[in-house]
Amino acid sequence: MYDEIRIEELEVFAKHGVFPEENTLGQKFLVNVIMKTDVTKAAKGDDIHSSVHYGNVCAFISDYMRNNTFKLIETVAEHIATELLLKYNLIKEISVEIKKPWAPIGLPVESVSVKVNRGWHRVFIALGSNMGDKEEYLRGAVSSLEKANGCSVKKVSSFIVTEPYGGVEQDDFLNGVLELKTYLRPYELLELLHSIENAAGRKREIHWGPRTLDLDILLYDDIKMNEEDLTIPHPDMKNRDFVIGPLKEIAPYLVL
Ligand code: ADP
Ligand code: MG
Repeated sequence: MYDEIRIEELEVFAKHGVFPEENTLGQKFLVNVIMKTDVTKAAKGDDIHSSVHYGNVCAFISDYMRNNTFKLIETVAEHIATELLLKYNLIKEISVEIKKPWAPIGLPVESVSVKVNRGWHRVFIALGSNMGDKEEYLRGAVSSLEKANGCSVKKVSSFIVTEPYGGVEQDDFLNGVLELKTYLRPYELLELLHSIENAAGRKREIHWGPRTLDLDILLYDDIKMNEEDLTIPHPDMKNRDFVIGPLKEIAPYLVL
């Protein structure tokens, strides 16, 4: 349950647009922001340093929009949302709406706008390897996640040696689990995991066969989704001791 700090109709003259004239002449934009945070501490101490200074946020948005030029207001909104999440630890969720009252569409319209919602999510990821230098692959995955945009690794379990699972004759595995804080959406995160697996030379030859690196999303907040290519919570996690053990180690109070 969060409190809200709102900025309404901040006016910025900037040059975003698909048409070249828009990038030279510029036009008026209006910005609405809702920041979800907890103001209890600021309110109790009557202290601005414990809150998000909306004046500074407005100045940041205004500078950012005047100093950069994008074609789409989608891009402007997304960049501002993620920059503010990274800049202010106190913001847990944010919505940024960019309105274009003078959008050149050749029809009478009051304004067009795009609103994006972004926030921090708590995710648990399973790591596994059973080829080559297994520990090196797992450590490499942890450091790639730590470096990725919008990701920070909160906890990493011990790595445990486990026997192969799924009936294919192969070498033992090294397994672990990590906790990630991220603003990436589930599919964005899956794409990032695939790119880290690919960079580790992962080939998809035999299902449940040997692999240099396997990264699976176990939990993503408390969402449930069941798409063809992405199921969360991971469908088989409760049957896998090599997942449940490390998960309990880093999140003993988690209710599954
Ligand atoms: P496995 O992890 O089952 O051994 P792969 O790593 O080859 O197999 O993953 C196959 C596909 O599983 C991925 O391309 C992905 O689309 C899909 N998938 C479904 N749910 C998840 C999840 N929670 N985490 C990771 N991949 C998932
Ligand atoms: Mg996988």
